[in-house]
Amino acid sequence: MYPRLVVDLKKVKNNLDKITEMVKGSGCSLMIVTKGYCADMEIYKLLENSEIDYLADSRIQNLKKYHGTKKERVLLRLPMISEAEDVVLHSDISLNSEIETIKQLNNNAAKHNKTHKILLMIDLGDLREGIFYKNEDEIYETIDEILKLENIELYGLGVNLTCYGAVIPKNENLSILVETASKIENKFNIKLKMISGGNSSSVYLIGKNELPRGINNLRVGEAFLLGDETAYSQMLDGFYDDAFILEAEIIELKEKQSVPVGETGVDAFGNRPVYEDRGIIKRAIIAVGRQDVDPDNLHPIDSKIDVLGASSDHLILDVTKSDTPYSVGDKVSFKVSYSSLLRATTSAYVEKTYK
Ligand SMILES: *Cc1c(COP(=O)(O)O)cnc(C)c1O
Repeated sequence: MYPRLVVDLKKVKNNLDKITEMVKGSGCSLMIVTKGYCADMEIYKLLENSEIDYLADSRIQNLKKYHGTKKERVLLRLPMISEAEDVVLHSDISLNSEIETIKQLNNNAAKHNKTHKILLMIDLGDLREGIFYKNEDEIYETIDEILKLENIELYGLGVNLTCYGAVIPKNENLSILVETASKIENKFNIKLKMISGGNSSSVYLIGKNELPRGINNLRVGEAFLLGDETAYSQMLDGFYDDAFILEAEIIELKEKQSVPVGETGVDAFGNRPVYEDRGIIKRAIIAVGRQDVDPDNLHPIDSKIDVLGASSDHLILDVTKSDTPYSVGDKVSFKVSYSSLLRATTSAYVEKTYK
């Protein structure tokens, strides 16, 4: 069945070993983040038998799939109050920034006779989740409240960067997190066990030996899956970027002009595309679309193919310059970036195979 995603489990395992060596070698514990590929069960088996410490995901549905795991489960996205019971049942740790939600977690943890651990998220300027680092009063008031809750353990602090604001983690900004943690420890006379210093964009700091002392955990998805650190988009040494390959089938192959005929308005997604005049070209339509991939983040293995555009179910390629004599029915292969991997593993129309 096509389209399909071919998962090379040997390459995934290689990347897993490499990231483990890097992150754990730096003295941090490692959360492997599984939301980028919908918590695939074959990859889960590799993770379960590995040296990683935590399985982390943004969706509680994915963490439920890990029922019976020996690893601790971490919910990355701030919990919805409406899912508080599921959160205490299916995760050991969750990332939080709202005291009302934390109180609901406490109530549900009490109901099930559990202690639920939380990381309080501090926003160092990326402007996604967390209490803004400059609002120290808000941080202290929240901690004061948290410490009153009997079934919640304040396990530590966390920060997330390079997601909304595209802010790059540096020794300077991550040091603020470490300082915040020690101020809290002194003020409340407590010990914070985990200071979680970010995601794949923090990985490059290990190589430069610039991860501040005190950061003792990283949460890594993309670097593990695709082998790149996401601060400067550099490939990491010894990692594979092609553990996941998307294959789709040609359903039309015709020579046509490259600029649409007639007055143009907006495309199927409300955008006003610009068309480059390439003259008469050989155009291949393949049976995969925006439901299944992000056309801007799909990289043909045949480097002489250009992706021209896509609608929900069609992807249009310029194969004019290719040395391969394509025919209808042939398959075209692509490396995927994160957004395409995310869609391909979430789309019900993309088959998964393993090698
Ligand atoms: C998605 C996510 C991660 C992992 O990010 P990568 O860039 O894939 O490493 C880590 N932490 C949080 C809070 C996330 O939402």
